[in-house]
Amino acid sequence: ETKKYLGIKHDDLKLSVNAIRVLERRYLLKGENGNPVETPSEMFERVANSVSSIDKRYGYNPYDSKAEFYRMMSNLEFLPNSPTLMNAGTELGQLSACFVLPVEDSMKDIFEALTNMSLIHKSGGGTGFSFSKLRPNGDIVKSTKGVASGPVSFMSIFDQATEVIKQGGKRRGANMGILRIDHPDIIEFINSKEKEGYLDNFNISVGVTDEFMKAVQSDSKYDLINPRTGKTTEKLRARDIFDLITTMAWRTGDPGMIFLDEINRRHPVSHVRTIESTNPCGEVPLLPYESCNLGSINLSKMVKNDTINWEKLKNNTHSGIHFLDNVIDANKYPLNEIDRETKNNRKIGLGVMGLAEMFAKLNIPYNSEEAIETAENIMKFINEESVKKSVELGEKRGSFPNFKGSQWEKKYSSMRNATVNTIAPTGTISIIANTSSGIEPIFALSFVRNVMATQLLEVNPVFENVAKERNFYSKDLMMDISKTGSIQNLKQVPKDVRDLFVTSLDIDPEWHVRMQAAFQKYVDNSVSKTVNLPEKATLDDVKRIYMMAYKLNCKGITIYRYGSKENQVLELGGLK
Ligand code: ADP
Repeated sequence: ETKKYLGIKHDDLKLSVNAIRVLERRYLLKGENGNPVETPSEMFERVANSVSSIDKRYGYNPYDSKAEFYRMMSNLEFLPNSPTLMNAGTELGQLSACFVLPVEDSMKDIFEALTNMSLIHKSGGGTGFSFSKLRPNGDIVKSTKGVASGPVSFMSIFDQATEVIKQGGKRRGANMGILRIDHPDIIEFINSKEKEGYLDNFNISVGVTDEFMKAVQSDSKYDLINPRTGKTTEKLRARDIFDLITTMAWRTGDPGMIFLDEINRRHPVSHVRTIESTNPCGEVPLLPYESCNLGSINLSKMVKNDTINWEKLKNNTHSGIHFLDNVIDANKYPLNEIDRETKNNRKIGLGVMGLAEMFAKLNIPYNSEEAIETAENIMKFINEESVKKSVELGEKRGSFPNFKGSQWEKKYSSMRNATVNTIAPTGTISIIANTSSGIEPIFALSFVRNVMATQLLEVNPVFENVAKERNFYSKDLMMDISKTGSIQNLKQVPKDVRDLFVTSLDIDPEWHVRMQAAFQKYVDNSVSKTVNLPEKATLDDVKRIYMMAYKLNCKGITIYRYGSKENQVLELGGLK
């Protein structure tokens, strides 16, 4: 029986084999016996149905948006973050990927944060924390006359708890841990992930200030301050700490840095509170108890006859903003505080995936001035259209409650969402959409992907087409390519094809940072980007990259040097 939904046949979805595998394992609803009880199109129908039903509350017929939401998801033009696909229209109903929880300096507050983290992880979300308020290791504890154990040792409890709690059997939780550069335990924090296996469920980032970055540049000292007393405990040479951060990042990938002053300068509701933390992958700076739901437009589908289809991009942007705003209301929040704080600002994050695949279709090498310029034009356009749509929703449905006094109030008479754009990693939804992840370059033209204990060999589909059209395709060649992922040293591949299909590790790291900065210019939340470095990259390369990210007004920086972690997600070298 061919079921029909709004004129689209169910089995018309052209999903890749990898997409179907991922969906079957984690996304499709399952029956008692563990087998899926819905098809992928029924999943999209469930999500479209649940998210569009919100329109009724605002006096609109949800039928139109239901058709539109179904269309854009089933065409793989737009996908919401994983929890929305998994949980919309179910009893759990938790739809957000990103949360930030406060950690205050008392035993009761620390363990309350731990309990709250467990509830969020169970529901499929990831959590970010700033541990900067905790008194340092060795500081006094008045009530017991004992000594405090400091932020890093408490982080290990959060890490252990994460290890134990599986998210409804679907995925293990992810965390971001942040410590300010002026916390007395900063050195212990920077070194904390050197021990293999320690804090494995955390990404860590040092929260740096302009003052610190300037002290690095001028080679001066800066103060460490005990957060409990507000008193300076020591003065350190900024360059020593910058060297330590970059050395550890070179060795292990951690810590990254987040630029707190830039984040707060650009925070549209800075009148409410100061931001201290981001979500796990760094792309959403949030206030305590805020959550954010994300969605990504698949840019590889926005190309027509070798040019960008602006009209289609505009439509998907408007529908994407409408969709994500509805998600805020459709969401069942794990805590009352989160429900309240999220609805006070109604932050959403519409972004993109498939950038590299789009560049390949447009014949633009990722490492070119034209790519940077195109990226800026696209993001500027998405941002302008996102704001327009949010203003329109604000007129019809009311502005977010903290609108008064916000930076938006200076420009518009209404605004529905305090933030509208984010570039997410799209780690899993880009597999579902069968495109390159986020704004990353193609990682490898053929490679092995470790997903949930399975190894999948993949050849980039755009490259495969070109290879066939230009008559140099062969199975042997594809196998050869998978050894390094790159075609730069394969003379049998035409020069113009080699120039176009550059991979993450072929590209000079400067291009990675410039691409991140190009997007950040027009993104009001933040940008997820991993600056991939070849194994042979030097410590000076890392220092240069970290400083460059700061100078280009990025909100954070993360690098990954190939091979510096034992179990990395993406691996070159053919099937093991
Ligand atoms: P997806 O592709 O699954 O929608 P992304 O890779 O874009 O997700 O990640 C977006 C955000 O989702 C992350 O920053 C994090 O907040 C959350 N997230 C991702 N993976 C996990 C995980 N394993 N557990 C909890 N949260 C996660």
